[in-house]
Amino acid sequence: MFDNSVIKKTGQWWKFLLAYFGILVGGVGMIYGFPRLDQEYALVWAIGGWVLTFASFVFGCVSIRCPACKEKWIWRMFCEKEHQWGIPWLLGRDDCPICKQKFHGELV
Ligand SMILES: [Zn+2]
Repeated sequence: MFDNSVIKKTGQWWKFLLAYFGILVGGVGMIYGFPRLDQEYALVWAIGGWVLTFASFVFGCVSIRCPACKEKWIWRMFCEKEHQWGIPWLLGRDDCPICKQKFHGELV
């Protein structure tokens, strides 16, 4: 799936998955923790989930970048595209949206 995406072709798919699941797990931690703040350990879930979500988001924004022009693709996606179109916009293309460099294999 998404074999033609520029993120996979540049060998950065693991970064995308790590950020994605970090945000997912962190989100579950916050959903679990914040409504139960009167209970023991709920604060750890809530704050831990928030930190994990934030760290994963920053990791994805900073680390997934074009090997040619060094543009931060995820960050650019959030800055320029409507949220619901951002991920398909980036996963559906095999070239850098900025410098138009095409990638054919693992480069990073
Ligand atoms: Zn580029």
